[in-house]
Amino acid sequence: MITRFAPSPTGLLHLGHAFSALTAWDEFQKSEESGKRFLLRIEDIDFTRCRPEFEEKLLEDLEWLGLKWETPVRRQSEHLEEYQGVADQLRERGLLYPCFCTRKEILAEIARAGGAPHGSEGPIYPGICRDLSADEQATRIERGDEFALRIDLEKALAETGELTWKDKRFGEVRAKPELLGDAVLARKDIGTSYHLAVVCDDVWQGVTHITRGEDLLESTHLHRVLQELLDFPEPKYFHHELITDTDGKRLAKRDESETLQSLREAGWTPDEIRTRLQIPISG
Ligand code: GLU
Repeated sequence: MITRFAPSPTGLLHLGHAFSALTAWDEFQKSEESGKRFLLRIEDIDFTRCRPEFEEKLLEDLEWLGLKWETPVRRQSEHLEEYQGVADQLRERGLLYPCFCTRKEILAEIARAGGAPHGSEGPIYPGICRDLSADEQATRIERGDEFALRIDLEKALAETGELTWKDKRFGEVRAKPELLGDAVLARKDIGTSYHLAVVCDDVWQGVTHITRGEDLLESTHLHRVLQELLDFPEPKYFHHELITDTDGKRLAKRDESETLQSLREAGWTPDEIRTRLQIPISG
């Protein structure tokens, strides 16, 4: 098996990240497959939110927790052109279309239509730019209007048919990409997206097992579509539960009080973190 942990350096790691990292690490440790490998990938494409100092701190935290990964570490920001190449390919196949809408325009259209179903990334895109003619698209691009690229989900599903994935926790899951609708695969500002970059990297790095939080479950519905369109192999998934605080509430990812840095400064040990997270203390 080849597996990975793929944090985004948008802030300090907190207990929720530690849970995810240790779950992925323990899955790797437990595997009896020969030739197993553990990778770390820095998901730093969103330059509006990522900072090098957070990357430095997260490497420090993960090492302290006991993770050991192969070097060199892959940084998504160093591969933007490769993701764009894949977006171009999908666009040439007619599976992506340029979307010139601003957030405000999308919300106004949704209000006009009397609402839209919500996915994890907000309301489902109401399709404003889906049927622009080739001429209209060209005119707007020529005059310099900024655009994102969205997947034309209906066309995509006509190619892929129904999809499933195997999940260690949920068994065989039927993919429901309609939960995300015509999602953005290349953002206006960065020319790619989490969805496109993560699907490409996992296959380019040979990842066979993906352990990540159930907050990303909804993304997997779309990732299966991309994998199928691109003829990528299907990885095995384990979407682990999210940890809760002592009142049973989900720990917010940005809970400042429980960063690993602050817990370390307060004298916590990695084993105490495991105990707090109710993860067995392993060798
Ligand atoms: N970079 C994502 C995050 O920090 C995780 C991506 C993944 O595991 O697929 O939430």
